[in-house]
Amino acid sequence: MNRKIASLVVGAAVAGGAMTALAQQATAPADVKIETTNLAPGIYMLTGRGGNIGLTVGADGAAIIDDQFADMVPKIRAAVALLSEKPVKFVINTHLHGDHTGGNDAFGAAGAVIIAQDNVRKRLSMDTVNGNNQPVPARAAVALPVVTFADSATLHFNGDDLEFTHLPNAHTETDIVVRFRKANVLHMGDCFTGSFPFVDGKNGGTLDGYIEAQQTVLGMIDDNTRIIRGHGPLGNKAELQAYHDMLVVVRDRIARLVKAGKTQDQVVAARPTKEYEEKYGGENFNAANWIGSAYVDQKTALEKRRKK
Ligand SMILES: [Zn+2]
Repeated sequence: MNRKIASLVVGAAVAGGAMTALAQQATAPADVKIETTNLAPGIYMLTGRGGNIGLTVGADGAAIIDDQFADMVPKIRAAVALLSEKPVKFVINTHLHGDHTGGNDAFGAAGAVIIAQDNVRKRLSMDTVNGNNQPVPARAAVALPVVTFADSATLHFNGDDLEFTHLPNAHTETDIVVRFRKANVLHMGDCFTGSFPFVDGKNGGTLDGYIEAQQTVLGMIDDNTRIIRGHGPLGNKAELQAYHDMLVVVRDRIARLVKAGKTQDQVVAARPTKEYEEKYGGENFNAANWIGSAYVDQKTALEKRRKK
């Protein structure tokens, strides 16, 4: 039935003159359209700039999973308003990254209750660094989750049960998967994307945990499950399985080389990602960087196992 449909374009019309100035900013929000895809009655995926958003609307109001960047909030609100007269009551964060939590300040200030795993609140409350070692200052109090949990929680909303499950030390140490139990829809945050994963070791992520997270989720779903990825197109079980299997092959290759005492340069030269790069590499894939990070990750994992 009416599955892949509605492309509700909410982008503001930009007058010709303004366009020239905006075109100079690569991320000018006025250029970005929110696209809305219906996944099940009252459940949608919104894409725009930043992480994909999950949305539920119904008798209880509206709730969103992730909220992209601060400058996207007006467009997110407009997209929600096309489907619900009620404001956003709950914001669920799949993890701490700014392209998924940037709208927290505005939604929090407007009275939305922000829900996330304990470590999201912990890490957003302090000054940290990102994957490139650039400082990320602590967020304002209004942007912090006010309901947090360690392992799991359930939100009973719009006639469904939204089950939140912590996926430890995966993309970060803050990740959850959100499952609409009745509708059979999932939001996996950045524990499933369209390309080789970013494993954010500075925020507690590990490649082994990332693979385990995917195994956990594969055990929850069936062939009809619709999966919102953190980035990239809507996914399904077969695609998640293929992505997981690819990661296991690549991880095992790297782990063997690390165990054999190879250096980072040697592991990069062995090109353990080779036959997958066309499918999962994407435009900006830098094999030396990705394999280098995975090498450091697997070396750390091996040292931890040896200490035990
Ligand atoms: Zn992320």
